[in-house]
Amino acid sequence: MSLEAEFPQAYKALGSDDHLQIEHILDLERAFLTRGSSSSSSSMVAGIDSGPSDADFDVLIAGGGLSLLYSIKLAQLGFSVAVADKGLAGRGHREWNISREELKSLEASSIFDCSEVDAFIDHRYEKGLVRWHGGRSHWVKGVLDCAVDADAFLAVLRKRAEDLGVTFLDRHRCEKVFSLPANKGLSVSLRQADGRAEETRIRCRLLLDGRGASSPFGNFDIVCPTVGGVMKGLEHDSTVGEILVSTEDVVDGRQHIWEGFPLSGDRLTTYLFYYCQPDTLAATRHPLLALYNRFFRELGNYKQGEASLVRATYGFIPGNTRLCSSDLSPADRIYLLGDAAARHSPLTFCGFGNLIRSFSTIGDGLADLLREDRLDRAFLSRVNCEQEGLRVMGGLALMMIGDRPGLDEDPHLINALLDDAFAALSARGEDIYRDFMQDRIRFQQFLPYMLAVARSRPTVWQEVYRRMSASELFDYGKQIIGFMGKDLFI
Ligand SMILES: Cc1cc2nc3c(=O)[nH]c(=O)nc-3n(C[C@H](O)[C@H](O)[C@H](O)COP(=O)(O)OP(=O)(O)OC[C@H]3O[C@@H](n4cnc5c(N)ncnc54)[C@H](O)[C@@H]3O)c2cc1C
Repeated sequence: MSLEAEFPQAYKALGSDDHLQIEHILDLERAFLTRGSSSSSSSMVAGIDSGPSDADFDVLIAGGGLSLLYSIKLAQLGFSVAVADKGLAGRGHREWNISREELKSLEASSIFDCSEVDAFIDHRYEKGLVRWHGGRSHWVKGVLDCAVDADAFLAVLRKRAEDLGVTFLDRHRCEKVFSLPANKGLSVSLRQADGRAEETRIRCRLLLDGRGASSPFGNFDIVCPTVGGVMKGLEHDSTVGEILVSTEDVVDGRQHIWEGFPLSGDRLTTYLFYYCQPDTLAATRHPLLALYNRFFRELGNYKQGEASLVRATYGFIPGNTRLCSSDLSPADRIYLLGDAAARHSPLTFCGFGNLIRSFSTIGDGLADLLREDRLDRAFLSRVNCEQEGLRVMGGLALMMIGDRPGLDEDPHLINALLDDAFAALSARGEDIYRDFMQDRIRFQQFLPYMLAVARSRPTVWQEVYRRMSASELFDYGKQIIGFMGKDLFI
């Protein structure tokens, strides 16, 4: 059966530009599902390269998405920087929401002033909504309430980087990574992404891997396939952002969740996503296309109106539960950024927000190591900007996955559990609700909150026990103790 016959709704809505959009989605699927395998780029440093180089830089950034922020930061600090992207650096297929408070990090980093940051905001809504199928409405303020014009933001980042002398290698796919003799640096092989055979070898002291979910070094154990886009014609209240809304129970092992963020001009960014573990996705045929098909088929159950797609936005958002290794440096002189590092919350998956909050601190840490030439794995791994509350989000994220044990008899369980969890959160007050959604929760807030959930839902311990393996429970317990120790005593 052809893909068009298999995913008719997706093809009908996305196939208008000679199927370029579909080709891009298929490329993302391929890159994600084969990352790190022997058929894709090498998953480790491939040996020693003593041959000639085409150019030398202090820093090479593989992937030109939000990692452009790092290119600016490091160029401002005097380092020579190149960015290689398999497509065009500074082009995205996303729309981003964030709070105005979080955007202040951009002003503090001195890359933008307040009026420039305001210019990126396309629309602000007044309050956010979380509602689980069959449950209550849980309102919050100050969370994801600014819609950022992603194209404009990335275009300005690229222009700033070019003005600072950053070299751009567009349509160059990063393939193998080699060490230089005597560990003097790295040599990275780039191949023209249009299939031409020419290879370019770039030498650098430090490789920053910003290749997102397709990075062969990617550090994640949970993922949200996410599809949707900017839509016109859908009924909505432009003062309300729908942060998490479900309209059905678990179907085929997936708990589908909608988001709807208003934009200017009566447009609405709408997404559909689900949580899963990366290895289980391999068994799903074309996960993004299949999800798009569902998106267009089920959209009417979420929003009324004559919908038309203005711009498609999609991708795999990786996450890290902190229940497995989460080393930020896979090898000497290599450091992971953005989605490849997956340092955002595995519960909210706000990678944009996390990057904006952390790039300046991490950039300073990397700059110090570059100056001292201490670029081995042990030093690089210590460069971090992690909020302690993230330690305990992973265990909660596992509860959101539809194809884990414990749901066979009750496909409504995830919705019921989340409704009780958000009711307890809401009851603890707006500040705690907001802190929880923005990864800022403290242990003194987390513990009473968990006890409140257990009081309102006495079955929760059994539900957690049934849904997590013994080793996950053990690792989660360690994270809770670590959170307590760091937050209360340090
Ligand atoms: C639909 C969607 C909506 C989202 N909405 C929000 C939101 O509202 N708020 C929020 O906080 N977060 C949001 N996120 C998450 C956020 O978009 C990501 O966390 C963030 O964009 C990650 O940026 P990145 O630069 O690390 O990765 P990416 O944006 O994935 O960029 C990776 C870059 O690497 C390039 N690349 C890949 N492989 C190679 C290679 N081999 N060689 C060279 N280049 C390569 C790609 O072409 C790409 O340009 C959303 C994600 C999705 C998918």
